[in-house]
Amino acid sequence: MLRNRDEELAIRADVFRWLDEQFIGQGGYEIHSSVLRGYHFGDEHIPLLDRGKGIRNPATFSSTLSIMSGWKANKYADYESDDGWVTYHYRAGEGGDNTKLVRAWANGDPLVYFRAVREGYYIPYYPIVIAQNDPVARVVRFPLDQALSFLGEPETYDEQKRRYAESIVRTRLHQPIFRARVLHAYDGACTVCNLRHSELLDAAHIVPDSHEQGVSHVTNGLAMCKIHHAAYDRSLMGITPDFEVRIDQDLLDEVDGPMLRHGLQDMHGRLIRLPSTRTAHPDKEKLAAKFDLFAKR
Ligand SMILES: [Zn+2]
Repeated sequence: MLRNRDEELAIRADVFRWLDEQFIGQGGYEIHSSVLRGYHFGDEHIPLLDRGKGIRNPATFSSTLSIMSGWKANKYADYESDDGWVTYHYRAGEGGDNTKLVRAWANGDPLVYFRAVREGYYIPYYPIVIAQNDPVARVVRFPLDQALSFLGEPETYDEQKRRYAESIVRTRLHQPIFRARVLHAYDGACTVCNLRHSELLDAAHIVPDSHEQGVSHVTNGLAMCKIHHAAYDRSLMGITPDFEVRIDQDLLDEVDGPMLRHGLQDMHGRLIRLPSTRTAHPDKEKLAAKFDLFAKR
């Protein structure tokens, strides 16, 4: 039995509200599938992911509630393109899931796209509205951000639209993935002070992104709390290529309250905490380039 349309739309709106809560609560981090399977609307349990397939079609919904990128199938860019559009393939066979997927396109129903960042962890994108349906190629296409759909087809962009689209893709796609990877590599703690509150943590770039098309590599990142990130960006704090923290001499000489004393001055001479995975260690050349800016200050 399908529920009535108003109720279905109310549930979708509640799912978006709930995801806001989860995501903001997590500091814009990734969400584990067990959390996503635990969603309730009132007393009713409505898992947001389907076990074993990449599409969630609740029996009582007229159209698809969510789509997810498979972790193993999707080693980044299998379905996504750098312009921020996702191509999603119908499932094998006729009817069933595909009927509801096509109906979501026909009705313009808002749904969620869960993008895997590693096994079991997802970044949610919502509301997603399917923009194109190609029944011959058996795919649907949608942009990761509604703003992209107003720009038209990527092939038709002029310079201004292209730049605008790039900035959306950077903010909506590349930065959250970079953040999830870096915070995971550093085990969810500031590399300088060990603070563990993801709401207060950032993924800091060591040097600005040279290639703007794509996700920065984790070796150009450091997990840092907001204060240390800001201090690092402004070269009030430096990190040597040998992973030692240095604080600017003027700051060391200053006398002020506990934030300055414990938060900054006490960090001088400490070694940063490195990821347990060697391949995720910060790039020494990049650290050196950034440290030069600090030393020259
Ligand atoms: Zn810190």
